[in-house]
Amino acid sequence: MTDAILVTGGAGFIGSALVRRLVAEGVSVVNVDRLTYAGNLASLGDASSSPLHHLEQVDIRDAAALHRVFRARRPRAVIHLAAESHVDRSIDGPAAFVETNVVGTFWLLEEARRYHAELPDTDRDAFRFVHVSTDEVFGALGDESRFDESSAYDPRSPYSATKAGSDHLARAWYHAYGLPVIVTNCSNNYGPCQFPEKLIPLMIRTAARGGPLPIYGDGRNVRDWIYVDDHVAGLLAALEYGTPGETYLFGGEAERRNIDVVHAICALLDELRPSPDGAHARLIAFVEDRPGHDYRYAIDSSRTRAALDWHPALSFEEGLRRTVEWYLANEAWCEAVEGGTYRGERLGLGVRP
Ligand code: NAD
Repeated sequence: MTDAILVTGGAGFIGSALVRRLVAEGVSVVNVDRLTYAGNLASLGDASSSPLHHLEQVDIRDAAALHRVFRARRPRAVIHLAAESHVDRSIDGPAAFVETNVVGTFWLLEEARRYHAELPDTDRDAFRFVHVSTDEVFGALGDESRFDESSAYDPRSPYSATKAGSDHLARAWYHAYGLPVIVTNCSNNYGPCQFPEKLIPLMIRTAARGGPLPIYGDGRNVRDWIYVDDHVAGLLAALEYGTPGETYLFGGEAERRNIDVVHAICALLDELRPSPDGAHARLIAFVEDRPGHDYRYAIDSSRTRAALDWHPALSFEEGLRRTVEWYLANEAWCEAVEGGTYRGERLGLGVRP
């Protein structure tokens, strides 16, 4: 076994932040990524050309390729982020979500299990499989209460249902086979390098262009926002200090209504890139709600904070400012990842292709 960490989905939003941090800390990374529309090597910055970064352009459903990667790279841990991740896309085309999130996770667990079983005793004890999931598996909350480790699963979208399925598989591979699995569930991430189809980058990009800012429903849906680097810090804490078989929940302690998030983005743009046509908030337009739109998500991460000595370091206001500044300064990245195919159009109304 080597010191390398195998990261799946390492060219995506959260995965790229994780890979950048690991490489900066001198850790060798095996980046298993199929490079879908959501995976972009440009997000890795200098890390992509580091001798510590080893790209394996592999689909996690390809068991033979995974088998080869585990034997060739001999990682000490897996951090599994590869997924189809956009709720609206899952409503339009759920098959890809079942394929990657459920079937792909199954094959990854299987190949990790076989590799783990062949390790010498001390290496086998040290090996970890961190399965990265979302708070959306717990369904929606009312105005009160928060999710914690004992919350019941109640997914409402094809995305959250397939992530829930993958969580159950991961836990089953711990109980049935002794694979040292740690499950993490995190609230909504934001920050640099997020594909501009998700709320915050979509609003920044669209507002900067002077286009209409579509708010689903009445905009009162609440999300608990966490800056991506705080999630990455939590994943690394779970890897190093977490107990196999346990679940850890990460939240940003930053519950905000969607409409308030968009107003905050508009205010930052007014300051950083004022428009001659007036305040950016004039562009806000309410549109038909997403089917099955969960009202509120919120995380009680007190147990995780105590167990892992982790807490979110960045306030929402500071994180959002950094994010808006990053998108304004990185037009070339946005153009490259959009690749001429995605132009911020509405997805997720359940229209069959
Ligand atoms: P993303 O969509 O930005 O990136 C996903 C990555 O997975 C991409 O690089 C893509 O190329 C890769 N991928 C997709 N299908 C693959 C396959 N079959 N084989 C190999 N690689 C494949 O996603 P993200 O926002 O970075 O989320 C990463 C993980 O974190 C996901 O598992 C997601 O469910 C979870 N998560 C995300 C959030 C959030 O707010 N973004 C919150 C909590 C948990």
